[in-house]
Amino acid sequence: MKPVDRSEFNQYIMKTARDVIQDYNLIEPNDRIAVGLSGGKDSVLTLHLLVELMEEFDFELIAVSIDEGVSGYRGEGIIAARTNAAKLGIELVEGSFKKEYGFTLDQVSKLYQSACIPCGVFRRQLLNKISSELGVDKLATGHNLDDEIQSFLMSFAKADFRRFSKFGPMLDRIHPNLVPRIKPLWKLPEKDVGIWAVMNNIDVHFAECPYSHTSLRSKVKNYLNEMEGSRKGTKLSILESFSKTFKFERKEIIIGQCKLCSEPSSLNVCKACEMVEDIKNRI
Ligand code: SF4
Repeated sequence: MKPVDRSEFNQYIMKTARDVIQDYNLIEPNDRIAVGLSGGKDSVLTLHLLVELMEEFDFELIAVSIDEGVSGYRGEGIIAARTNAAKLGIELVEGSFKKEYGFTLDQVSKLYQSACIPCGVFRRQLLNKISSELGVDKLATGHNLDDEIQSFLMSFAKADFRRFSKFGPMLDRIHPNLVPRIKPLWKLPEKDVGIWAVMNNIDVHFAECPYSHTSLRSKVKNYLNEMEGSRKGTKLSILESFSKTFKFERKEIIIGQCKLCSEPSSLNVCKACEMVEDIKNRI
């Protein structure tokens, strides 16, 4: 039974994240860590937790926000990101698809089956590029328990076994310019993150992205919520089954760099550059 008292609930949130950080050695003394801060509840909780742990674990923090260019949506998220970073005294660095690639997500969303396809590719690349330029040791993301098992089941359903190496609470450094990712919320259910934000009256952007319904993820999410509703603990059991069955190792993946943009890539031309070329020919 989870605590309903605010202070006990906050302790449960902190303990769950701290256990993941300690059990998987996510943070080392003197680390410089960037938090990918969208302004949504998950990334905002990640920032708040890490600020609280900075002294104890002896590391530095900076935040990075990406504006994908989704009208009526992302703007409010960026405002929440700025508000939280300012309140906590953390520097915020901002990037945008428009500035980096020359178009907004809105302008290219219809070219793909789901807007999440280009969004994921460009956001991952830009977050890594900015973090790498900032010289940070790690990039902390707000991926929670639900995100992780959704991704896992999606890869499982597509038999995309290469992607299994991207799961787990920490992704090692496998290329000098590929900033390792850490996921302090790895064992926290999305619902509890929402409760934390409401209970503590935190300024977060709760709205859903207008493109989210186009993704396979939203279907998997609904399915998992139904399962959890009828059998409590299902999500955590799925995470534990995956953790015991698969090794979260990326050492076997050989990664070079894109010949066009020099970003880390396992192909000659990275997915982002391939998509930019494709988009240029279609808009
Ligand atoms: Fe991007 Fe899809 Fe997430 Fe919207 S739902 S922010 S389009 S990945």
